[in-house]
Order: sequence, then C-alpha cells, then structure tokens
Amino acid sequence: MTIRTGLGFDVHRLVEGRPCILGGVELPHPTGPDGHSDGDAVLHAICDAILGAAGLDDLGTRFPDTDEEWKDALSSDLLRASVAAVTEEGWRIGNVDIVIATEGPRIAPHRAEMRASIAGLLGVSADCVNVKGKTLEGL
Ligand code: MG
Repeated sequence: MTIRTGLGFDVHRLVEGRPCILGGVELPHPTGPDGHSDGDAVLHAICDAILGAAGLDDLGTRFPDTDEEWKDALSSDLLRASVAAVTEEGWRIGNVDIVIATEGPRIAPHRAEMRASIAGLLGVSADCVNVKGKTLEGL
C-alpha cells in the first residue's frame, strides 16, 4: 500500500456583507471570507492538500478564479470535484487534519459540525477529520 500526504494552505480576508462559511458550515459572525467563490478557505485548503498528495496540481489550476464558470461557486462543489479527481486516479482519502487560524469567529463551538460536514464531503467518517482552531494573537 502506498501512502501519500499533502499540504494545503489558504488565506481569505474577512469582510462585512459576506456569509461566514468555513468547513462547509455557516457560522454566526458579522464578517465572512471574501473571494471569487464563497471564500471557504478551509475547504480550499483541503482541496489543495488532497490534489497535492495525488500529484494533481492545485485548486487554482483546476478551477481558475479568472473563469466565470467558478464565480460564486460553492466550495463544497469544488471539494467534491477534487475528491472525484483523486478517486479517479485510484487514491482513497485516509484522514485530514486542519488548523484554522483566525481573528474572526471562534471555531471550537462549531468543531463537531465542521468535522461532520467535511467528512460527508470527503466520504470518510468524522473521526478521520480533525479541526483545530487557533487565534493569531491579535496580529
Ligand atoms: Mg481560497
């Protein structure tokens, strides 16, 4: 059995007037991540991690933000498409471990819902998805 690991990273500015969707869950918060899609940086980072592990480039290459087709795209759809791409190559997702660093919403109260949401999108059980929230210490 061959095991590969991948690393994803993403940053989105939190702005007023946008829903705060992270990990496929809408959080009650006055600002939300800006972006060409719904701005779900958590799902974007997961896409990059699994695509990277499979050697399938990255999210921006597969779903360019210059393409109107992906304007206001649901990140859950981008993740489903990424999962399909790695599955077609014969890979199976084992687990994901996620760090969310934000000065925005508190993550801990929503951790279980995020884990379930992400697990559903990846087709794995919730115990294969870990979510950790960190602050940026005011930086
Ligand atoms: Mg992004």
